[in-house]
Amino acid sequence: MPRGAAGAALLAILTVSLGFAAGELLCACDVPHCNVSTCRGKVCFVSKSREGGSVTRRKGCFSQHLLESCRGPVMEHFGTKCCNASMCNAHLEIYLRGEEAPGPAAALPGLLLLTVVPLLGLLLLAALAALFGWKLVQHRRAGARGRAGEADLPLKASVAGDSTLEDLLGDDCTTGSGSGLPFLVQRTVARQIALAECVGKGRYGEVWRGVWHGESVAVKIFSSRDEQSWFRETEIYNTVLLRHDNILGFIASDMTSRNSSTQLWLITHYHEHGSLYDYLQRTALDGAGCLALASSIICGLVHLHVEIFGTQGKPAIAHRDLKSRNILVKSNRQCCIADLGLAVMHSQGSDYLDVGNNPRVGTKRYMAPEVLSEQIRTDCFESYKKTDIWAYGLVLWEIARRTVVNGIVEEYRPPFFDVVPSDPSFEDMRKVVCVDQQTPAVPNRLFSNAVLSALAKVMKECWYQSPSARLTALRIKKTLKKLSHSLEKPKQEC
Ligand code: ADP
Ligand code: MG
Repeated sequence: MPRGAAGAALLAILTVSLGFAAGELLCACDVPHCNVSTCRGKVCFVSKSREGGSVTRRKGCFSQHLLESCRGPVMEHFGTKCCNASMCNAHLEIYLRGEEAPGPAAALPGLLLLTVVPLLGLLLLAALAALFGWKLVQHRRAGARGRAGEADLPLKASVAGDSTLEDLLGDDCTTGSGSGLPFLVQRTVARQIALAECVGKGRYGEVWRGVWHGESVAVKIFSSRDEQSWFRETEIYNTVLLRHDNILGFIASDMTSRNSSTQLWLITHYHEHGSLYDYLQRTALDGAGCLALASSIICGLVHLHVEIFGTQGKPAIAHRDLKSRNILVKSNRQCCIADLGLAVMHSQGSDYLDVGNNPRVGTKRYMAPEVLSEQIRTDCFESYKKTDIWAYGLVLWEIARRTVVNGIVEEYRPPFFDVVPSDPSFEDMRKVVCVDQQTPAVPNRLFSNAVLSALAKVMKECWYQSPSARLTALRIKKTLKKLSHSLEKPKQEC
């Protein structure tokens, strides 16, 4: 896809309404996510972007959360126009700045155009300046109110004057209901990033440390065969307010063209310790460190799993690919959960289950028995939460093995390392987990320590074959909180 299509494509991914809003319109839709040629949303839109000779037009819907996108100015290279009647966007045209609308404008004498166009330009500039001023006031107010838990990325200078990116990210008025910046700002930020070094290769792409205005950010570059994960993650971060200490902080999403191929970027906070998987390879823990990691992960998982009602609310989310490689370790030794490319969302009020459109499946090694036996109830949101709990138990086991008890600690190993090959097949896993009903061996030494034996008990209660018998994330969080309090120095509250 040419670079010029990026704006329209970025808007396009935002058109999948979560279905929470009442009174939805039927709109014409031709964005990649529309399986049929219509969609439902709060308003219908057309968008247009131009790069060189190529022009991309898109039609679709915006959900309640995205109405702000209608108010963006129509620029020379990109613009959006909204309307609110059924199918009103089917034949709606949009003219970019500098383009001529047919009719009276086309007939205007050249002299008049020469006067009107600069005047309009001036007006537009004035409007932009006013908007800019308003945003500054808003984010300063937000800054004065103060926000907890967003102190780990002090980014300086930004696309919006002297305000920091962190200020902008923390500004409810600017960010709407999603977790990131307005879309045009996201694109601008993305294009100001210099890639510094590759810090990880995943199954479907690479992660780079990038530098934006002197500060490190993480840039996940998705391979084109995993574009659905990029779409999904971008969609979730842009429609759901997901700012939490234990969820990887989102900055921007972008689609660029480099070396004549399309690159899908997801820009997030950068954590130099890398993934929990990386961290455990080189770090042995004590009981308190083990508990801090375990507690922070469960805090993140509770925040995902819970539905929050109200204007600052969020749907319930199940991760579906929880594993030590998808958990990052922050400089304060707390973890945050990353990779929402497979996540599913649920809203109780409308009983709406959004499973996305991703052909990718979770990581086989971490699959719960009901996934491996293909007996999972895919129409029931609770089932997905239970598979996260199974995987959390395995992550807990990985952490516990790396904890020194009585002077003994084991090497890092992935779950089921002793019973399946290094890249296990679905069938390998099914035999071990469903047929033989094996669970990882819990090291004996854990039982000589009060905290570690309590964690061993939690693990086992995550590994029941029957999903409904497993603990809930909230129950685990409460248990671990009690354990923290029982230690000398309580570690964290969340
Ligand atoms: P996978 O596909 O194996 O789940 P990812 O693509 O999520 O892996 O990430 C690959 C690796 O890149 C991670 O294991 C981690 O080492 C590193 N990484 C990912 N995100 C970040 C980040 N925000 N900060 C630092 N390192 C990261
Ligand atoms: Mg991943």
